[in-house]
Amino acid sequence: MNSLFHPHSATPHGNGMTSQRARDRLVATLREEGIRDPRVLDVIRTTPRHLFIDEALAPRAYENVALPIGLGQTISQPWVVARMTELLIEGTLPRRVLEIGTGSGYQAAVLAALVDTVYTVERIEELLRLARRRFRSLKIENIRSRHDDGNVGWQAEAPFDAIMLTAAGESVPRALHAQLAEGGVLVAPLGPAGAQRLVRMRRTGDDWQREEFEAVSFVPLLAGLR
Ligand code: SAH
Repeated sequence: MNSLFHPHSATPHGNGMTSQRARDRLVATLREEGIRDPRVLDVIRTTPRHLFIDEALAPRAYENVALPIGLGQTISQPWVVARMTELLIEGTLPRRVLEIGTGSGYQAAVLAALVDTVYTVERIEELLRLARRRFRSLKIENIRSRHDDGNVGWQAEAPFDAIMLTAAGESVPRALHAQLAEGGVLVAPLGPAGAQRLVRMRRTGDDWQREEFEAVSFVPLLAGLR
């Protein structure tokens, strides 16, 4: 029998674990776990997460888990990426977004599919190099990236309509407050290791409205470059 036409043969979408079916299953899981925004679910469905991790881990790319990306860092769990994105774009879709902690580049790629321009800052040069290569090969052209300590933000491009931190600190660095536009929204994991929560802050003049959401577990926001 000609295996090319066998109904169970591999499809052009890739092998079983990186296939469209695996992505659809992930989206179904995210929906069950409370992700509601159809824009976010659509982007998760179409973003090839397996290309943001080491090939050896690709079979696990569409499981709802964080995975190691080397240098002691992780690509966030898909549910966390979806939830933070949903919190960031609820209400008004921001045009210019600053992300602190590029890591694999997956969260930046998800944001880039939704907003005009993503500015992302990473302190580990090697991770940034790999992420940039992924953006290029996926022809994502609306991500600007910078090797720097994200604690200082990206002054030359400020203000931003929205800011997302993907590494956890006890509080939001001063500089980032100052780089958020009037009416802007900031989403971050905040709190000590073992007791972090997703927090959303909205700025109205000098007034900050703060909301707390689910418990999460992120790598720490560190200082300095490497
Ligand atoms: N958004 C990433 C998640 C990466 S994990 C993704 O989608 O894969 C958090 C990242 O934050 C790590 O790569 C870590 O090196 C980076 N990081 C930690 N402290 C930082 C800082 N002060 N400035 C910039 N990046 C930082």
